[in-house]
Amino acid sequence: MLKENLEAVEARVAAACERAGRKREDVTLIAVSKTKPVSDIREIMACGMVDFGENKVQELCGKLEEIKEPLRWHLIGHLQRNKVKYIVDKVYMIHSVDSVRLAQEIQKEAEKHQVDCQVLVEINIGGEESKSGVAPEEAVPLIREIAALSRVHVKGLMTVAPPVEKSEDARGYFKRMRKLFEAVKAEQIPGVEMMELSMGMTGDFETAIEEGATMVRVGTAIFGARQYAV
Ligand SMILES: *Cc1c(COP(=O)(O)O)cnc(C)c1O
Repeated sequence: MLKENLEAVEARVAAACERAGRKREDVTLIAVSKTKPVSDIREIMACGMVDFGENKVQELCGKLEEIKEPLRWHLIGHLQRNKVKYIVDKVYMIHSVDSVRLAQEIQKEAEKHQVDCQVLVEINIGGEESKSGVAPEEAVPLIREIAALSRVHVKGLMTVAPPVEKSEDARGYFKRMRKLFEAVKAEQIPGVEMMELSMGMTGDFETAIEEGATMVRVGTAIFGARQYAV
């Protein structure tokens, strides 16, 4: 059943690429498996998926004890500095860097583990009080500072758009992200390769692809609704 969900999402990703005149391989679909059991992840792995997203360090580490296959784990949730040490050598990419201090901690732990770490800078594109991420105008100064860290490699930007009723309503946010992405790229900051624009979730990933997303993070449409303990 999860296989069918994934196939349906895959078809929608392909159709959005087609509409936007983009190549399917230019967009990475990340299966967001937070709160879901390892058995569900295995079902999706069996379909050939290698990119998985988790938002909590503890949950990710628990899953990594059971899943030893070489997957690409994306840390997509807010990351506390004291947790960096648990994941720095285990993740493919950290999508949620939003301060110099966090980047410095990643540098310190990456050095300890002798690894390099790919990161995205998270942008609070809707200027929401409750969201993490930096304001758009802080992106370039922050990326310049991170660029000085030898083991932390900025690969692009990430955002979680404000909740909207229809996917279409998020388009303006995605357009602004794309503009910001291009503006940062134009700065040609040494050591910074602007390759990835991580935006779009279950409710809005098609619009995000139309507006230039290179990574979409889809949970609910693949794994079904999440149940949180109350
Ligand atoms: C949970 C989550 C997603 C996936 O959300 P869905 O709406 O279930 O697709 C994407 N990005 C982040 C940062 C998340 O925390």
